[in-house]
Amino acid sequence: MKPEDGKKSLFSKLPSVEKLLVSTSCEPVTEKYGRDLTAKAIREVVECVRNDIRSGDEASFPENESAWMDKAGSLLSEWTAPTLKSAINCTGVVVHTNLGRSQLAGEALNAVMEASRAAVNLEYNLSSGCRGERDRHVEDLLIRLTGSEAATVVNNNAAAVLLTLNTLSNGREAIVSRGELIEIGGSFRLPEIMSQSGSVLREVGTTNRTHLHDYESAITGSTGVILKAHTSNYRVVGFTCAPGLKELSGLARKTSVPLLVDLGSGTLTGLDRFGLSTEPTVSATISDGADIVTFSGDKLLGGPQCGIIAGRKDLVDKIRKNHLKRALRCCKLTLAGLSATLRLYLNPADAIDKIPTLRHLSREIDQIKGTATEVSTILKKFFGGAAEIFPIHDISRAGSGALPEVDIKSVSVAIRHKTISPDELADWFRKLDTSILGRIEDDLYRLDMRCIDSPDQIGVIIEGVTPPP
Ligand SMILES: *Cc1c(COP(=O)(O)O)cnc(C)c1O
Repeated sequence: MKPEDGKKSLFSKLPSVEKLLVSTSCEPVTEKYGRDLTAKAIREVVECVRNDIRSGDEASFPENESAWMDKAGSLLSEWTAPTLKSAINCTGVVVHTNLGRSQLAGEALNAVMEASRAAVNLEYNLSSGCRGERDRHVEDLLIRLTGSEAATVVNNNAAAVLLTLNTLSNGREAIVSRGELIEIGGSFRLPEIMSQSGSVLREVGTTNRTHLHDYESAITGSTGVILKAHTSNYRVVGFTCAPGLKELSGLARKTSVPLLVDLGSGTLTGLDRFGLSTEPTVSATISDGADIVTFSGDKLLGGPQCGIIAGRKDLVDKIRKNHLKRALRCCKLTLAGLSATLRLYLNPADAIDKIPTLRHLSREIDQIKGTATEVSTILKKFFGGAAEIFPIHDISRAGSGALPEVDIKSVSVAIRHKTISPDELADWFRKLDTSILGRIEDDLYRLDMRCIDSPDQIGVIIEGVTPPP
């Protein structure tokens, strides 16, 4: 038989979708996934095998109906599996943007769940029976915690900056130091946000030095706002200068130009007791004279993704009335999670203890060392003699632009495998049912223990798993 004849006969053996759909092997599959989706999967499998025959690969031809349905079943389970999966963050970066930033406190999780499963008084005033305002669920808390006169919330801090600039400076000039024209990972670029907001960028000073008189001489009748941005992911060191916030706010007062500070992380509590002193708090920024402060809800604050705008009441009212606010507002789940997180801050000890981001950032080194020792024991048992496993001093980072370049002492568990490389080890840990994400440094694979509350978090994942060959 010529190969062409073989192909022809295989083509003629391809089953029809209808026939497979009524086969007994298909019954449990349709039961689970429904008839329509199952039919789509079968069609795709048949098409795939047809292409394989065309390209000369005949080995993939299923032997019987049950083999056909196995193929369809795998496809269906792939189609219906969630792509968003939980993972264990051993990267050493506490607020990791690619890993979804802050994990919520239990109180916030409960609040989100309650708000998602029932009707809620999101914009409904239960005492009057009239329409209410969604900001009401967080505004008083934000006022209390930041010392501002008013506050509102939008989808993220990029939206907060966009909305504020659009409200205060559309068609007018926004004055920014050349040392602060930031780009934050994942496409937040200040110059672009400015042009989207309709404000005209008026750069002053130089990359390393900007003086108060640079701002002063740039102020004209067409100035809309002075913007000060937190240089989140870099530091300008050496021969540098920039006016302090108080000086800048003095100028803003004198010239009646609002001063907007984009804080980025915006911590609500002083981190200096943890040796993390360089991040300005929101309340200090307000009391130093910022008219509006914007910051993220899911960075150092430790809540859900959102952007908070706090400051002068007349300006916040104007921002709230901007029609763009409607496009940038956040949902009941976010407000529920944010409100619950903010309520924890009313008792600062509670906040440190219960908000994972703060708890992880403030962990004592001895505690982390203890976790590293226990995890080392678990991993030694798991790998047997195939790997060298030992705790090692390491450096964590706050992440997401908070505390840029600040080294936070930590302890990692290092793994040196006898037969597989650090890259292969990283791959193996990443592909576990629940991914464990570490990092490689100095050719050594390491799992930073700062964000691991209990060694069992690692233990349960590798239980019953076969170690890498
Ligand atoms: C992170 C950051 C932003 C962007 O905040 P998102 O909440 O990610 O939108 C803007 N400005 C600064 C200074 C930041 O650090």
